[in-house]
Formats: sequence, C-alpha cells, structure tokens
Amino acid sequence: MSVVTRFAPSPTGYLHVGGARTALYSWLYAKSQGGEFVLRIEDTDLERSTEEAKQAILDGMQWLGLTWDKGPYYQTERFDRYKALIQQLLDEGKAYKCFMSSEELDAIREEQKAKGEKPRYPGTWRERTDHPTDQPYAIRFKNPLEGTVVINDHIRGKIEISNSELDDLIIQRSDGSPTYNFCVVVDDWDMAVSHVVRGEDHINNTPRQINILKALGAPIPEYAHVSMILGDDGKKLSKRHGAVSVMQYRDDGFLPQAVLNYLVRLGWSHGDQEIFSVDEMIEYFSLDDIGQSASAFNTEKLIWLNQHYMKSLPASEVATRAKWHFDQMNVDLGGGPALEAVIAIQADRVKTLKELAEISTYFYQDFADFDEKAAKKHLRPVAKQALQTVKETLMAVETWSPEHIGAAINQAADSLGVGMGKVGMPLRVAVTGSGNSPSLDITLNLLSKEKIAERIDKALTFIANRENS
Ligand code: GLU
Repeated sequence: MSVVTRFAPSPTGYLHVGGARTALYSWLYAKSQGGEFVLRIEDTDLERSTEEAKQAILDGMQWLGLTWDKGPYYQTERFDRYKALIQQLLDEGKAYKCFMSSEELDAIREEQKAKGEKPRYPGTWRERTDHPTDQPYAIRFKNPLEGTVVINDHIRGKIEISNSELDDLIIQRSDGSPTYNFCVVVDDWDMAVSHVVRGEDHINNTPRQINILKALGAPIPEYAHVSMILGDDGKKLSKRHGAVSVMQYRDDGFLPQAVLNYLVRLGWSHGDQEIFSVDEMIEYFSLDDIGQSASAFNTEKLIWLNQHYMKSLPASEVATRAKWHFDQMNVDLGGGPALEAVIAIQADRVKTLKELAEISTYFYQDFADFDEKAAKKHLRPVAKQALQTVKETLMAVETWSPEHIGAAINQAADSLGVGMGKVGMPLRVAVTGSGNSPSLDITLNLLSKEKIAERIDKALTFIANRENS
C-alpha cells in the first residue's frame, strides 16, 4: 500500500505552531515512507474562512519547506462531489432527510440535559416516510445502531467506541451545504489518504468518519492523533505565551530549520538526540514514537536551536534568510561586506537573525547618531588625540587584514603611551556607533578605510561640538 498523508487546515487564521507540528509529522511520515503528502484547505466554513488565512497557510508551509506533492485542494471546489455522494447515500437508504426544526431540536436537548443525559439526536426521522414537501430539511447519516468502532491509533493505542454512543450526524445542512465530517471523509477517500495525522481534538470525529467511510464502501485509513501543545505554564498555548503563528517566528528572526527541529522534538523523540537535520528527521521518524502526553512550549530551547543553526548551517543559507531582515529594515546590502562575513563575526552575539540585522546595519549604512551613553562615555575631549592617531595608523595600513588592523591600533596606543581601551573604545564608538561590537580587527576589516576615516572624522566633529557647547 502506498502511503499518502495530508494536512487539512481550516483557513480561519494564521498557521499556528500546533498546526505546523501536525503538518510536519504528516509530511515526515509521507517522506519517510516514500509516500505523498497532500495539502487540503478545508474552507467550507464560508463565514470564517478568509483569503488572507489561505495565503498565510501556504506561506507558512512554504517557509518551513513542507512542500506538498498534491494540492492545494479546496473543499469549496468539490461541492458537486459531496452532493453526489450524499444523494447516493440517500438512494441507498444510508442517509435520510430530517425535518426537525432547530426549536424542536433545542427543546429535546434541554430535556436531555435536564435528565443529565448526553444531548443527542433521538433518530426521530430515521424511519419516517411522511415527508412534508414544503419544509426545509437536513440530511442525516444513518449511524449503525449496534456494534463498536475500533481505532488502532498510532499514538493513543486501541480506542473502542460503541455505536450506541453516536447519534445520526447531519451531513448536509438545511441550506444545502455539506458538513465538515462528511467532506473530510470524501476527501480522504478521493485523495487516497492512507494515514490521517491530526490533532487530538478530532478524536471524537474519527468513529463517525469511519462509519461514513464504511457506508461509502471506502477503505479506512490509519490514524494518529497528536496531542496538544501547551504553553510553558502548562496552559493551552495561546497568544498570551508570545508568538504562536509560524510566520511570526520568521518575523522574529528564527530560521525555519530551527523551528522544524524544535517542532519535531515537541512530542517525538529518537533516543536523546536533540539536533536533527531534515534528512535525519525523515530517516528516523515514526508515528509510533510520538508521545501521548501534551508537550509544553519552551522558547529558550527554540532560541538555543536557532543559535545552533545560525552558526552551523551553510553560510549562504543563513545569509539568504538574514537578507530578508535587512530588506524589512530597508537596509541596502550593496556596497557593504558580504553578508556571510558579517554573519561569521556576529552570529554568536545574537539569538535571532532579526537581532543580527539590527546590530549589523553599520556595515551597510551610516548611522544618524552615536549611541548616547557610549558617546557620553567614550567620545570625550580626551579621546580626540587617540582618534586622530589611530586614524593615521589605520590609514597607513597597506594590506587590509585583521592582523594589520590590530597592529595599527596597538601602534596608536603605544605611541600615545596609553592602554588599548583608551584607543579601542573611542574607535569602536566612532566606527560602529555603539560600545558593542566584535573585536575591532575583524570588525574594521569588513569596512573600507575610507568609511572608517569618514566616521572617525564624524566622531571628532561630535567631540568638537561637545567642547563648544
Ligand atoms: N480542518 C481541520 C482543522 O483545521 C482538520 C481536519 C482533519 O485533519 O481531519 O482542524
């Protein structure tokens, strides 16, 4: 049997981390089995589905690299198919028209609740043939009255539900639209889905869906219901915990590799390994190794992984991702050093690519002002001479390399008879605008002599203005 998995989000919001993890598990399983991964957009809820949300899901999947082999399919484009099958079930006596009004239904529910019973449709129209011709009706699936449904869930093990617990589900509303559980079943069948990997919030739907599949004569897929993701405080993950949208992680400066690695470990393990390349995930992944308990989100670990990948991925890959952040800030990289070189000296100073871009703009554009505190401390009249001298020694460097730049700075300090700091700190503030940068030899090495001279002059003017005010 060939493996086909799917991710079937409802486009009612962004792609959140829970959905992304489900998508990842589903994708990994398909990849690990040489199978196919289907993307299906479940947009039948016309009121809650939006174009932006559809796009956000596609963007999120693409950013994570969770490419689909088939789709995206849209349920709204498949209404004819659902209707045809509903008609077929009606014709075969496996579904029936229900003329019960919502008021009647509410009244029954209230009564059941008052008796402490679980609200359920009592099958009123299941066998009736006295159909009115002028009243709206819903179509219900004739759920078997006896027997049980057994699910051998890859994560939760054997689950057995008695049919007596299930009522006759509406498969077509009175406005003629097919309902969620029916569309899912038809799609999983038509798309030849062999393994349904989805959130545990759907576990109650599964026995109903299996009954409908059986009625249609469709094969029953295997199931894996993935547990929830909780916030670091043990509560259901929500916006209160910070970013929950996958694209927010991109915006915040995380690498997709870090997010994937983070998500895969949120509920799945392979020995005590923490770092997985995508190839390794595919190689080791198995549905049966997904844990049953809810996993708590841990931002510190995600940051740790992000730092790891910023330093260990091919420099060109990190550079491409980092460029996006410079673009967001309208920083033009033309004329400046290769981004790879900047990343090499800045990556271990930051947690994210966004931060990296923020602290690296001085390589690409002049800053408007010196950092106030740093300037106050280091661009003082006493620094004038140090700056003038180091400018001269730097300008005299012939081979522009960290080694020669370092020597020129030492030479300036020596000739003034002062410690390195007395030269280095004013120089650092002059050239980078702040008191924080990697060591000056490697930092200056990425800037041109002309640019450095210009910025030292600017610092000298700043000091002069300060003297005069
Ligand atoms: N559309 C459903 C959701 O977004 C998923 C349905 C399924 O995976 O079967 O929750």
